[in-house]
Amino acid sequence: MALIVQKYGGTSVGSVDRIQAVAQRVVKTVNAGNSVVVVVSAMGKTTDGLVKLAHEISSNPSRREMDMLLSTGEQVTIALLSMALQELGQPAVSLTGAQVGIVTEAHHTRARILNIATDRLERHLKKGEVIVVAGFQGVSRTEDLEITTLGRGGSDTSAVALAAALKADFCEIYTDVPGILTADPRLVEDAQLMTDITCDEMLELASLGAKVLHPRAVEIARNYGMPLVVRSSWTDDPGTWVTSPMPQPRSLEGLEIARPVDAVEFDTDQAKVALLRVPDRPGIASRLFGEIATQSLDVDLVIQSIHEGNTNDIAFTVTKNSLNRAEAVANAIIPALTAHQPSSLEKAPEVMVEPQIAKVTIAGAGMIGRPGVAARMFSTLANAGINIQMISTSEVKVSCVIDQRDYENAIVTLCHAFDITQSAIDRQPKPQETLTAQNPVRGVALDLKQAQLAIRHVPDRPGMAAKIFQLLADNNVSVDMIIQSQRCRVLNGVMTRDIAFTVAQMDAETARTVLETAAPELGCGEIVVDMAIAKVSIVGSEMVGQPGVAARMFDALYQQKINIQMIATSEIKVSCVVAEDQGVMALRAIHHAFGLAGTQTIQVSA
Ligand code: ASP
Ligand code: MG
Repeated sequence: MALIVQKYGGTSVGSVDRIQAVAQRVVKTVNAGNSVVVVVSAMGKTTDGLVKLAHEISSNPSRREMDMLLSTGEQVTIALLSMALQELGQPAVSLTGAQVGIVTEAHHTRARILNIATDRLERHLKKGEVIVVAGFQGVSRTEDLEITTLGRGGSDTSAVALAAALKADFCEIYTDVPGILTADPRLVEDAQLMTDITCDEMLELASLGAKVLHPRAVEIARNYGMPLVVRSSWTDDPGTWVTSPMPQPRSLEGLEIARPVDAVEFDTDQAKVALLRVPDRPGIASRLFGEIATQSLDVDLVIQSIHEGNTNDIAFTVTKNSLNRAEAVANAIIPALTAHQPSSLEKAPEVMVEPQIAKVTIAGAGMIGRPGVAARMFSTLANAGINIQMISTSEVKVSCVIDQRDYENAIVTLCHAFDITQSAIDRQPKPQETLTAQNPVRGVALDLKQAQLAIRHVPDRPGMAAKIFQLLADNNVSVDMIIQSQRCRVLNGVMTRDIAFTVAQMDAETARTVLETAAPELGCGEIVVDMAIAKVSIVGSEMVGQPGVAARMFDALYQQKINIQMIATSEIKVSCVVAEDQGVMALRAIHHAFGLAGTQTIQVSA
C-alpha cells in the first residue's frame, strides 16, 4: 500500500463533470489499496476571474486582500470534490491550507512554505479518509494567522511539499497535457512525449516546462528526492516521470529553502580561447565548433557577445590539456574569415588564449525570479578584488570565469555570501564514460518574450557588473542571460568591455531608463536595446562530456541561414539568441537536427 499525493490543475476540475471524473479516479486509486491526499487548484479560470474583479475595484489592490480573495478559488474546489467523493461512498474531508498547517513566510502573494504539520493529515488518513487540500495557500506563522498564497501556479508546489512532508511514495500532477514534451507542440508538430526527465533538466527548461510544472515544485522534488509524474487527467497514459538522484536526508524545517543558491561549484581544469572580431554572418560558430568537435575536444562554456560594427567575439573554454589543439583549430579558421573581410575594417580577426583560468558557479532554483542573486555574486567577487573575465548564465546558474590564482578566495567568499556550509562541488569533467546511445538533448525551448540590451564600453575593473546588475535588481528587473564580451577597447586610457544581457520584454524600457540615467556616473557608453529577439535553448544532462553537441545546434541554425546574436551555456544547456522572426524556424530546425521528432501525434489539449 502506497501513500500517493495527487494534484489536479484548474482545467482538470473545471466543471462538475470534471470534478466527478476526478472523484472516480481518486476512488480507483484508493480501491487499488492506496492512501490518497488530493491537492486541487481553483476551477478553470477562476483565479484569473478573481484577479480581474479586484482590478475593477482597485488599480493597486493590497496584497493581503488579494490573498484573501484568491484563496477562495481553491476552497470552492475542495468542498465540491469532497462531496463528489462522498457521493461515491468514499469517506473524504476537505481542508484549507491553514487547517492542515501549511505554514509559510508572511510575504503576501508570493509566500514560500516553511513547514507542514502532518499530525492532522495522519489522523484522517488512519481513518481511511481521502483528504482534499486547497492548493496554492498557506498561513503565516504570525499570531494573526494570516492567509497567504504561494504565487500563481503554486498548487504544484503545495502538492510536492505535502508529498515531501508526508514522505509519500510519489506525487502525481494531473493536467491537461499528456506530460512533458520535447518542444512546445503548438510550434513543433512532431514534438514527442518524454518518458522521463531529470529535475535539473526540467529546471533549465523553465521556459518550456514552467507552464506545465511550477519550478518551485521541481526544486522541492529534487531537494527531497520525491518522484513526480506529470500525466493527463483525461487518459490513463503513463505521462512523464520527473526524477532526481536520492539526495542527502534533509530537514523539513524551512522546507522551501529561503536561500536562493544551494551550491557553489568550481572547475579549475579550464582554459580559454577567444576569437575576436569575426564577421557577423551565419556559419562561423558552426564551422569553429564543428572543427573542434571533429578533434573530439569537449567544449564547456561558450559565449558569444553582441557585435560592435559588423563583428562578433566568440569565446569558449576547454580542459587545459586540450588548449593547444583548440587554439590551433581557431587559428586555422582565421584565413577563411579574413578572406571575406571588407578592407575598411580597422583590425583583423585574432585568436587570444588564456591558459590559467578557473570557473566558479552558483547554482539554485531559488534564483528564478529573484533579480538580486547574480548581482550579489558579482559584488561578492568585486569586494574580494577579483576581476570577472567571462560571465555566462542560465535559468538556474551563474558562472564566472576568473584568474585561476583567485579561485580559492572566490569559493570561500561565495560560500560565505550565500550561506553555503557544505563544501563547494568540484565540477571537473568526468573522464568520458561509455558514450551512451542516449540523445544528448532532451528538449528544446523557445522564448519569444525577451529583449536584448547591451551596455557599451563598461570600464573593465572589478565591481562594474555588480553595480549594473544591482541597479537593475533594485528596480525589480530580472535578468536572464548575461554575457560579458571578450573584446577590450581602450577609451581615454581606460580598458572597456561591452556587457550584453536579456530581460523580459516588459522590463526592457525600465532597464533602459535605469541604465541611461546611471551611465554617466558609471562611466559607461551607449545603451542599445533590441526588442526583436528570440532565445532558443537545448537542454540535456547527457551533453556533459559529449563533444559536438553545441556544434550540431550551430550547424542546424547555419543550414537555415540563421545568424546567431548571442550564445551562453551551462553544463547541461546551450542557448542562442537569434532574430525574433526566425525563432520558430530555429526551434524546428534544432528539434529536427537532434532527431527529437516523434511519429506519434500528441493531443495538445483535451
Ligand atoms: N489557482 C492558482 C492559479 O491559477 C494556483 C494554481 O492553479 O496552481 O495560479
Ligand atoms: Mg499549473
